This record gives sequence, C-alpha cells and structure tokens, in this order.
Amino acid sequence: MNMGLQDRVVLVMASSSGLGKAIARRFALEDARVMMASRDRGKLESAAEEVSLDVKHRALFKACDITSPDQVKELVSETAERLGPVSVLVNNAGGPPAGTFDDFDDENWQKAFELNLLSYVRTIRAVLPYMKKAEWGRIVNSTSSSVREVIDNLLLSNTFRLGVIGLTKTLAREVAPYNILVNAIGPGRFDTQRIRNLDIATAEKTGQPLQDVAKISLSNIPLGRYGDPSEYGRLAVFLGSGANTYITGQTVLADGSMAKAVP
Ligand code: NAP
Repeated sequence: MNMGLQDRVVLVMASSSGLGKAIARRFALEDARVMMASRDRGKLESAAEEVSLDVKHRALFKACDITSPDQVKELVSETAERLGPVSVLVNNAGGPPAGTFDDFDDENWQKAFELNLLSYVRTIRAVLPYMKKAEWGRIVNSTSSSVREVIDNLLLSNTFRLGVIGLTKTLAREVAPYNILVNAIGPGRFDTQRIRNLDIATAEKTGQPLQDVAKISLSNIPLGRYGDPSEYGRLAVFLGSGANTYITGQTVLADGSMAKAVP
C-alpha cells in the first residue's frame, strides 16, 4: 500500500524514547520529513540517530517541553522554517504519576491536566492554521487502553486521557471540511521504560515480587506478550497517512485484546 507520506512533514511529540521514538522511526521509513521533540536534548540526539538509519530524510529534533506554550509555538514555527508546514501531528507525552485518589492534591491534578490534555490542545492549535491552509492534515492523539477499561492505580491517566477522546471526536467533526482527519490511538502494554517503571511501582505498592507483577500483566493479554513499540508505530503511521482517507474521530487500541470493553 502506498502510504502517501513521501516528503510530508511529520511532527512527533515526546519522541526521544519508547512509543514516540518508534512512531518517528516508522514515519521516517515511509520517507517522511520527521521532526522529533521532547525535553532532553541529549536523549533526542541519539534517538534521532536511530530514527535516521537508512532513511531518505534524516530526522531533525528540537528540545521542547510540551507543557510550555511558548516552546510549543516555537517548535511548530521552527519546523515550518526548516522542513515546511506540518501536515501530520502525532501527540504524545510522558505519563502522569501512578497513584490513587488520596495520593493527589490540586497541584498534581493541574500538572497532569497540563501534561496529558492541555498540551495536546496547544500543539493542535499551533499546527491547525497550516493544515487548514493546505486543506490537508492528519492528527493522531496517543492515549492509553485505559480509555476503554480503566487501570487501577492510574487515576490521573484514566481521567485526562478520556478528555483527549472527547477532544478527538469533537475536533474531527469541526475540521473535517478542511480534509483534516483526527484520530486517537491507545497502547495496551508495550515494552518501554514507562511500563517497566509502572511494574516496579505496582510491586512496591502491593509488596509482590516484580516477576509476579509482570506475570500477572502478561496473563491479562490474550496475545501473551507485551507489544513491540514498532507495532504501535505502524498504527500511528496508518492513521496519520495519506492511505487513511475516511477514518476520522475514531479511537483505535493496540493492546493484544487486553481491554475487555466493547467496542
Ligand atoms: P517513555 O518511554 O517513558 O517515553 C516518554 C517520552 O515522553 C520520552 O520521550 C520523554 O522524553 C517524553 N516526555 C516526557 N515528558 C515530556 C514533556 N513534558 N514534554 C515533552 N516530552 C516529554 O514512555 P512510553 O511508554 O513511550 O509512553 C508514552 C506515553 O504513552 C505515556 O504517556 C504513557 O503513559 C503512555 N502509555 C504507554 C503505554 C505503554 O505500553 N508503553 C501504555 C499506556 C499508556 P524527555 O525525557 O526527553 O522529555
């Protein structure tokens, strides 16, 4: 299938590691011009090296804290100057801390709101003028399988990711006349640092050995394994590609059928 991504400008947020990096790699392999962004310049630099291996266009990178409105604006305008106007945006961010209701005060709630919901609003606000002008755009908002089945001990994540789903569906309807397609994707359990840290947090909270925690997680995944981040990258690439011409406003999980909820 021709993905229609050749030379297109793709901005991938939170891409110095894990899922974001894998998404950037898959777009680069489709000959897109990729801009990678996250806070840590050093991590980004080596991630961009990996992403650029044997591809047509070397991935560029810029340090940007997705919770900073000024940095986001600067990132998008610098991307336009160096690569051209952004035509595909992949929203992704770090996860909020694990915990239950009594663990969090207003400051924790505010921070999670800014990291996992308001940040997506700001990146979208910055790229939309370019997409509207071009009458072409794809926005892929990465969330979590928790948008279908909540995950215990992840109250902040469970709450704000659902906001992203509301944003995705509503925005998809608003910008459809401009041929801008907006979708959400959600990972189940992919083998990344974040998931390893969550397993450690659960082991500490419950007093179970780490191996037992991982074993229980795996037993909840019908495919019997954690996903490889490249498998998530392929999902993001399809929804963010020119091959996707009619899917918009949807939420698609890649979770090995872990979440039991339908649809
Ligand atoms: P990860 O390996 O820890 O990567 C997180 C990325 O986010 C890093 O590149 C980090 O880079 C960047 N980041 C963190 N805070 C940022 C900020 N304020 N501004 C810009 N970039 C920021 O995690 P992951 O597993 O890929 O997960 C990515 C997201 O998916 C998280 O929100 C996670 O909760 C969610 N998720 C993951 C899974 C899974 O299976 N892995 C499942 C459900 C949900 P810097 O340190 O350079 O900023």
